[in-house]
Amino acid sequence: MKDCLFCKIIKGEIPSNKVYEDQDILAFYDIEPAAPIHILVIPKKHITSLAHLEKEDEVIIGKIYGVINKIADEKGFKDNGYRVIVNCGKDGGQEVMHLHFHLLAGRQLGEKIV
Ligand code: 5GP
Ligand code: ZN
Repeated sequence: MKDCLFCKIIKGEIPSNKVYEDQDILAFYDIEPAAPIHILVIPKKHITSLAHLEKEDEVIIGKIYGVINKIADEKGFKDNGYRVIVNCGKDGGQEVMHLHFHLLAGRQLGEKIV
């Protein structure tokens, strides 16, 4: 989608530090890390937010979790653990309106919200 920051990253119009890529999914390091490891995992299809998910998109969500586990394994933090966060909409604190999964690891993460 035009004017979407993450679509521009997918197209290579804005550079990113890539961690993983296949035909459906891209993972890259967050520009402002909130943990020693902070990776964003996104579908290449522009999906505005979790609230905009269509039935056909549910397969890609499953694949994203598979990619997250693959990254955790390859980067060596699968055993220590990690946190996956999806911010959705205004109250959820979503700033970039292209669905993304924050993958945080590398330290004991405090501030349990739920
Ligand atoms: P949100 O608040 O929408 O859940 O998260 C958006 C995330 O995108 C933030 O953690 C922010 O640091 C990250 N971000 C914003 N702009 C860029 C960018 O140009 N490149 C990268 N790699 N991350 C970005
Ligand atoms: Zn987009």
